[in-house]
Amino acid sequence: MRDDNCIFCKIANGEIPSETIYEDETFRVILDLGPASKGHALILPKQHYSDICELDEDVAAKVLPLAAKIGTAMKKSLNCAGFNVVQNNGVEAGQTVFHFHVHIIPRYEKGPVMV
Ligand code: 5GP
Ligand code: ZN
Repeated sequence: MRDDNCIFCKIANGEIPSETIYEDETFRVILDLGPASKGHALILPKQHYSDICELDEDVAAKVLPLAAKIGTAMKKSLNCAGFNVVQNNGVEAGQTVFHFHVHIIPRYEKGPVMV
């Protein structure tokens, strides 16, 4: 599955360069262009799914363990105190790019999450 008009399809498949912090056969993890905090990352599946409702079982089963792995690595490499895992579905919910993605937002102090 792929959408030729989707920027995250192009980024996830390496057709547009990005700051990649992790990659495997299913996902690319990149730094967000407009970070909510230092190190804010996005998990992008290489296949196109517009939102969580479209995910296939394999991707759905892999994405949370990967979020935990990235968050754990952030605690070590960025020395953040914690991290948020955020995922928006629909315009009203704040989704702006319609290729499923998961935000991993390192947290250094308490406060609201803005994504
Ligand atoms: P959403 O609002 O859909 O949950 O999140 C979209 C996120 O993608 C935003 O945090 C925005 O800063 C980020 N973003 C949008 N376009 C690009 C891009 O071309 N490259 C990168 N690295 N991030 C992007
Ligand atoms: Zn896409």
